[in-house]
Amino acid sequence: MDLAFTPEQELFRESVRRFMAKECTRDYIRSCSDNDRFPTELYARMAAQGWMGIPFPTEFGGAGLGPIELAIFLEEAGYGWYGAGSSYFTTVVLGGYNILLYGSEAQKRDFLPGIISGAIKSAFALSEPNVGSDAAAVELFAEDHGDHFVLNGQKMFTTNAHVADIILTVCRTIRHPQKKHHGITVFIVDADSPGIEIRPLKQLGRTATHTNEVFYRDVRVPRSRMMGELHEGWVGLNKGLGVERLSVAMMYAGTSQAIVDYAVRYAKERRQFGQPISKFQAVQHKLVDMQMKADIARLLGYRVAWMLSAGMPCFKEMSMAKLYASEALFDVANNGVQVMGGYGVLKEYDMELFFRDSRIGTIGAGASEIQRTIIAKQMGL
Ligand SMILES: Cc1cc2nc3c(=O)[nH]c(=O)nc-3n(C[C@H](O)[C@H](O)[C@H](O)COP(=O)(O)OP(=O)(O)OC[C@H]3O[C@@H](n4cnc5c(N)ncnc54)[C@H](O)[C@@H]3O)c2cc1C
Repeated sequence: MDLAFTPEQELFRESVRRFMAKECTRDYIRSCSDNDRFPTELYARMAAQGWMGIPFPTEFGGAGLGPIELAIFLEEAGYGWYGAGSSYFTTVVLGGYNILLYGSEAQKRDFLPGIISGAIKSAFALSEPNVGSDAAAVELFAEDHGDHFVLNGQKMFTTNAHVADIILTVCRTIRHPQKKHHGITVFIVDADSPGIEIRPLKQLGRTATHTNEVFYRDVRVPRSRMMGELHEGWVGLNKGLGVERLSVAMMYAGTSQAIVDYAVRYAKERRQFGQPISKFQAVQHKLVDMQMKADIARLLGYRVAWMLSAGMPCFKEMSMAKLYASEALFDVANNGVQVMGGYGVLKEYDMELFFRDSRIGTIGAGASEIQRTIIAKQMGL
């Protein structure tokens, strides 16, 4: 058994950490978060480093690396700032990686080089007003017109749709299928297609990469933009789940560690009763529990990265990683506020933003309740 990274992986981690520390300054984070502004400059610089290409084969201009390097990158991005990870995630993981897994060869050639260079940004639209946890109940309809489809309906909570060039849109293509998982097809839709309207949503946290409502009114999409087999979109969607859950888990593990480090620094500086509050056992125990949660989240994530690289089935483990990391993140942030007392809720300090940003993790990418149900099934319950 060996829990170590290779020297190349350690070097890679170091370079991502240095980059994030330089680029994700407090002023930059606040200027994006407080103004609901996508981190366009940061995104372009990450692309210039070649990091959009991490999981893609070299034939498309990618770096040809695997789940472990992707996990390292997202952990460090999450440590630097959630916005770095979350801007990356919708394009590289939800967009590009799905295209790699079940797009046509032509689609891979058309979109992957642009995604890797940073020229193409993507969003992923599955949720709808009536379709949340019951994701296979998708209603937005794509009518087959031979050489093209016509899309009508509405998507909800589409992260980064407002900056996207393409929106991977999950559609119903059979109106009343016998099984709801059948008759679903995914299309690559140009975000500026006539008939698309994008309305930003105002939310509690993660405001720099916020969600949107997307309306589709008679949107014409060429058949060549259909991903995988007609009606079999659900099969493709499932292929991407491992890397998707691993990615969010690692971002959350990284952010949890950033919160722990921030809280420890504060506790060592803040004095009450004539000594730093870090000397009080009650505060120490909180910080220890926070550190343990960050570590466990990280270890569960790297287990998935390792299993994916080894080609091992890990359906249970990937849900466990996502579930644990998202709950740990909120718990760590909540206790981080407590460690800082009143200063924890002031906008002058980072903890307030950590707290708001951390709330959403247990809802997006499959809510905690759904992850527990998946794990229970895998346990034979
Ligand atoms: C910040 C953020 C970003 C997002 N980004 C995207 C995106 O880019 N693309 C996209 O398509 N979607 C996105 N979503 C949507 C997200 O996937 C859904 O919010 C999530 O699947 C839950 O759906 P819902 O919000 O409709 O809640 P509901 O499904 O209405 O659930 C409400 C509550 O009921 C519980 N519940 C529902 N069914 C069950 C059940 N069977 N058993 C037990 N409990 C149950 C849920 O766990 C939850 O606690 C995003 C959401 C957020 C908050």
